[in-house]
Amino acid sequence: MANLIYYYGTMEAGKTTKLLMDHYNYLKNKKQVILTKPSIDTKGSNKVVSRIGNQAIVDFTINPNKSLLDDDYLEKFLNSDVIMVDEAQFLSPKQVSEFWYLAHLANIPVASYGLKVNFLGHLFEGSAELFAKADELRELTINCECGKLASQNVRLVNGHYCFDGPEVIIDGENNDVKYIPMCNDCMINKVILPNHPELKRIKK
Ligand SMILES: [Zn+2]
Repeated sequence: MANLIYYYGTMEAGKTTKLLMDHYNYLKNKKQVILTKPSIDTKGSNKVVSRIGNQAIVDFTINPNKSLLDDDYLEKFLNSDVIMVDEAQFLSPKQVSEFWYLAHLANIPVASYGLKVNFLGHLFEGSAELFAKADELRELTINCECGKLASQNVRLVNGHYCFDGPEVIIDGENNDVKYIPMCNDCMINKVILPNHPELKRIKK
C-alpha cells in the first residue's frame, strides 16, 4: 500500500519549492495529481506560491471542519494517482488520519508539506498528528543567520520580536507580521530571555 509522507521545516526552508518540483514531476510522468491545501491558508488564495516565484493552482481547498471522506472530496481523491497537500500543519488531526487511511486503504500516495512548530515553539495540531502518523518524515532545512540550523519560526510584528497573540496570523496580509527562521540558541537568547528574567540566573 502507499505511504503518507510529511516534508516539514521552518519558514523559508524550501517546502513549497519542493512541492512545486514534485508536482511538476508527477505531471510530467502523466500522473493524475490532486493539489490541495487547508482553506485557513489564505496566502495566494487558490495558488501554491513559493518565495522564489514559482506557483501552481490548487484543485480545491479543504474546509477545516469537513471530513475528507465526505462525498465531494472523496470522489476526487479516489480518482487521483497522488495527493499533494500544502500547509499541512493547518489540517485537523482527523483530516490527517483520513489522509493516512487514503494512503493505506485506497493505495494513493499522500505527500504533505508544512511547518513543524508555531511561533511559540509548539507543534501545530496538524503537525503533531503528522509526526504520529506519517510513514516517512523528511526534514527540509535552512540556516539561522548565525549559521546553525534553524528550527524555530520567530514572529516579528512591526520589526519587534513577538511572543504572544493567536497561533495563526498569515504574514503579508495587509499587516506588519513577518516570520524568520531561527535556531534554538538565537530564539532563547533574543526572544525568550528578555521576557523571562528568572532565566538569566542559569545563563553562562
Ligand atoms: Zn542562530
